Amino acid sequence: MSILDTKIEFLKGVGPRRATLLNTELNIFYFRDLLYFFPYRYVDRTKIYHINKINSFDIDVQILGVVRNKKILGLGKKKRLIVDLFDQTGTVQLTFFRRISWLNRFLIVGAKYLIFGRPSTYANKISFVHPEIDLMNDSKLQTRYSLYPMYHSTDKLNSVGLNSKGISKLVYHLLSAVNANIMENFSQSIIAQYNFLSRSNSLSEIHFPSNHNMLSRAINRLKFEELFFLQLALLKQKIIRKNKFKSFVFHHVGEKFNSFYHNHLSFSLTKAQKRVMKEIRLDVLTGFQMNRLLQGDVGSGKTIIAIMSILLAHDNGFQSCLMAPTAILANQHFYNIMKFANAINLRVSLLTGKTKKSDKKQIIVDLKHNKIDLIIGTHALIEDDIKFNQLGLVIIDEQHKFGVSQRAKLWTNKKIVPHVLVMTATPIPRTLAMTAYGNLDVSVINELPPGRKPVLTLHKYDKEINQVYHFLNKELENGKQIYIVYPLIEESKVLDYKNLLEGYRNIQDIFLKKGFKTSMIHGRLNKEDKEREMENFLNKNTHIMVSTTVIEVGVDVPNATVMVIQNSEKFGLSQLHQLRGRVGRGSDQSYCYLVTSHKLTSDAKIRIKAMVNSTDGFHIAEVDLKLRGPGDILGTRQSGLVKLKLSSLIKDFSMLSLAREKAKKILNEDFNLSKPSNSNIRQFFLKYHSQLLKWGSVS
Ligand code: ADP
Ligand code: MG
Repeated sequence: MSILDTKIEFLKGVGPRRATLLNTELNIFYFRDLLYFFPYRYVDRTKIYHINKINSFDIDVQILGVVRNKKILGLGKKKRLIVDLFDQTGTVQLTFFRRISWLNRFLIVGAKYLIFGRPSTYANKISFVHPEIDLMNDSKLQTRYSLYPMYHSTDKLNSVGLNSKGISKLVYHLLSAVNANIMENFSQSIIAQYNFLSRSNSLSEIHFPSNHNMLSRAINRLKFEELFFLQLALLKQKIIRKNKFKSFVFHHVGEKFNSFYHNHLSFSLTKAQKRVMKEIRLDVLTGFQMNRLLQGDVGSGKTIIAIMSILLAHDNGFQSCLMAPTAILANQHFYNIMKFANAINLRVSLLTGKTKKSDKKQIIVDLKHNKIDLIIGTHALIEDDIKFNQLGLVIIDEQHKFGVSQRAKLWTNKKIVPHVLVMTATPIPRTLAMTAYGNLDVSVINELPPGRKPVLTLHKYDKEINQVYHFLNKELENGKQIYIVYPLIEESKVLDYKNLLEGYRNIQDIFLKKGFKTSMIHGRLNKEDKEREMENFLNKNTHIMVSTTVIEVGVDVPNATVMVIQNSEKFGLSQLHQLRGRVGRGSDQSYCYLVTSHKLTSDAKIRIKAMVNSTDGFHIAEVDLKLRGPGDILGTRQSGLVKLKLSSLIKDFSMLSLAREKAKKILNEDFNLSKPSNSNIRQFFLKYHSQLLKWGSVS
C-alpha cells in the first residue's frame, strides 16, 4: 500500500472531526484525494501595494503595514473592531465584525502585518472589511510562494478552520510528508516526448507554484494525466466489449444489396455515407456484435445507411428490425421502404400499437417462419410474444427514446446476439463523444447531400409578427405548408396551453377565411388524436400545423417550408435546431422564423445568433456545450463520466485528441501494459482506473 492511500484522518492537522467533514463536503477520503484537490485559482501575491497607489476598487491588493490604533466600537450585532494600518505612504482602515476578541489579541499595535483583500471606501477612508491577515515575522508559509492557491471550501469546513487557507496548510503538510512517495505514472518516453514535469513535481507546483511558467507546466502535465488515463480505460473497455458478444458474420454483399444500390438509389452516396457504410461492413465481419452509434444531422441521409445495412443482413440470410420512437415515424419508414421493397423482393411488415389483432397474429407467425425479412415498428416490437427466426440486425432510430434495457429484450437468452446500429440526429460535440461515448464505436455523417438549400433563418421580435404572417400567407398561396411551434415549460403548464390555444385561434382567424386549415398537436391530446392531426397535415388536408414540440423528432413533410418558433428564447439550442430540421427537406427554399420578445438574456442572444448564422448541427452543439456544459447536454445518465477535475471538454480539445491517440497507440502495442517500459502506467492504471467505468453500450 502506498502512503497516498492513508486515510485523511491521519494527516497532521486533520483528526476525526475534520476528516468526516472533508469526506462529506469535498469527497476527500485519502491522502491522494487531497493531493488531487486542486486550487481553483491563484492570487498573485508577488506585488505589495503602497497605500497611496491604491486607485482601483476592483482588484484584491496586498499591503504591508504597521498597526497604529485599534478600537472596539458598538454593541451586540454592531460590535466591531476598527484598526488603522499604516505604511510610509498612508493609512487604511481595517474593519472586523467577527472573531473580535481573537483578532484583538492577534493585532498588536506597533507590529507589522501583511494584509490582503478588496479595498472599498468608507467615510472617505480606504477600508478593508475582513481582509486576510498575517503577522509578517512568522508567516513563513506565505513567503514561500508567490502565487497563492485558493481552494474551494464550504461553510461547514470554514467552521472547523478549513477555509482556503486552512486547506492550503493541510496540503502543505501533506506534500512535505509524501513527496518522496509520489510514484511516477508515465513512462520515461512519454515524459521525454512531451517534456513533462515529473508527477511529484507537478503536484507540488500546482499547489504551490514557483512561478507562472512552472504552474502552467504542472497544469499541462496533470491535464494530460487525467485525459490519458480516462481514454486508456475507455479504449480498453471498448476493445474488451468488442470481443465479448458473439454475433453473425455477414460475409457477402449479395443480390439485394447490389440490386438496390444499382437500380433504386437515385443519387450517389456522399463521401461520409460511403465511409460509414464501410465501417459497418467491417463491423459485421468480425464475428462479434456491432454496437455502433451513427450520428448525423437531420437530413444527412441516415435512412439509406439503415436500408443498406438491412439488405446486407438479408443477403446473408438474416432478418432485421427497425424501431422508431413513434408510430408516425415507423409509418414513414415503412412508406419509404415500400417504394422499392417489392421490386427487390424484400418482405416488409409494419407493427405498431395500431396494428389490428389479427394482423399482428399473422406477423408473429410470419416472423417465426422467416416469412418477413424486415419488420418496422415501435415499442410493439419488443413485446414478449414477438419471436424472430433469425434476427441478425437491429436498427434503432432516434436514440434517446429507447432505454438500453428495453432494446436488449430483443435478444435476451440468445447465445449469439444481433448487430445493433443506433441512429441519432442529435449531434454531440466531438470532445463529448470521445469521453461519454469513448468506449463505443461512433460513426458520423458530417456532410449533407449536395444541392441542399440551407434553411434561411430569421430573427423577428413579437411586434414584427405581422410581417411573418404576411410571408406565411405568400407561402401558403404557393401551396406550401407551415409549422408554428409554441414552447411548453413544465412549471407553467396552464399558461403554456393558454398561449398555444390562443395562438391556434389567432392563426385560424387569420388564415381560415383565406381557405387555409390548421391542425393542432400537443401533449394533452391522446395518441389517436395526435396521429390523426399529423396525418391530416401529411396528406395536405390541413396547411398549418400549430403545436408544442411534439413534432420535434424525425417527422418528414417535404412540402412544409416554413417553421415559425414562437418565444424562441425559451428553447434550448439543440431543440431549436431539431425543430428547424423539420423544414428544408424538399427541393424548395425553406425558412425558419425565430420569434422572440424584446427582452433577451445574454445566453438567449447567443442562441438566436448561433441559429441565424449556422445550420451546422455540430457547430451548434459546440455552442451549446459552451453555454450549458457537458452535464446538461448529456443528461444525468452519462454526466458523471465527464466530471473532469482539470481539463475542459470545451478548451482542451487538442490535448484530448492527443491523449486518446497516445492511449490507442500504447494499447495497440501492448494491450496488457506488460512491457517493462509501461510498468508505471500499468501500476497506476490497475490501481485506480481498471474498474472505474461501469457505463454502458448502446445495445
Ligand atoms: P435523416 O438523416 O434525417 O434520417 P434521411 O435519411 O431521411 O435523413 O434523408 C433525407 C433526405 O435526403 C431523403 O429524402 C433522402 O432520400 C435524401 N438523401 C439521402 N442521401 C442522399 C444523397 N447521398 N444524395 C441525395 N439525397 C440523399
Ligand atoms: Mg431520420
